[in-house]
Amino acid sequence: MAIKDHLIPAPGLRRVGLDPDSYALHLDCGIWRASCTGCGYELAEGRHQDRVERKAARRSCPVCNEVA
Ligand SMILES: [Zn+2]
Repeated sequence: MAIKDHLIPAPGLRRVGLDPDSYALHLDCGIWRASCTGCGYELAEGRHQDRVERKAARRSCPVCNEVA
């Protein structure tokens, strides 16, 4: 958790989907995190990359999209 600012993006692991640039995947201490590429808002997290990817792909960033 302390190295949160040093997460390395893993573009090679990003799957091309409907909106592939809406989130970025990171592997942090065994936990996958999908965060918005625009503002860094965490869209999803979990131990399974597939689930995190799917969850993130379905969500749109509430910050960037200004959903009240
Ligand atoms: Zn955002």
